[in-house]
Amino acid sequence: MYKYTEAAPGIFILSLDNHVEIVEALTAFCLEKEILAGTVSGLGAVSEATFRFLDPGTLKYVDRTFAEQMEITNLTGNISQKDGKPYLHIHLTAGRRDYTCIGGHLLCARINGACELVLQAWPGVFAGRRADPSTGLNMYKF
Ligand code: FE
Repeated sequence: MYKYTEAAPGIFILSLDNHVEIVEALTAFCLEKEILAGTVSGLGAVSEATFRFLDPGTLKYVDRTFAEQMEITNLTGNISQKDGKPYLHIHLTAGRRDYTCIGGHLLCARINGACELVLQAWPGVFAGRRADPSTGLNMYKF
């Protein structure tokens, strides 16, 4: 699912295998390394990505999948924990064939090419998450 090296204590360079789903692979890595706090950033290419948009007026989620080849121009996210398990919050911007970009809150994306990530794991746990009915979000609980 992935290859990695620990470049410095807590700093991991990951190369995800082709055709894997990014959120699934990152979650598996965090489980393997028992990472419950940190940040992740990266780039690569995908053949499909599903984003989630929260309408703040209705507090309803709108999910949309784009099935086309796209460059990951930026993937950025944080890692916290919810119910004792790694909780990944990832945003992704993807460049299309016509050089326009789409992006948003990432639900899942399938690699088609490569995906190179830098993950900085922090010791311990800096925050949990809890559902916040006023925003519809899982907010930090410090
Ligand atoms: Fe988000």
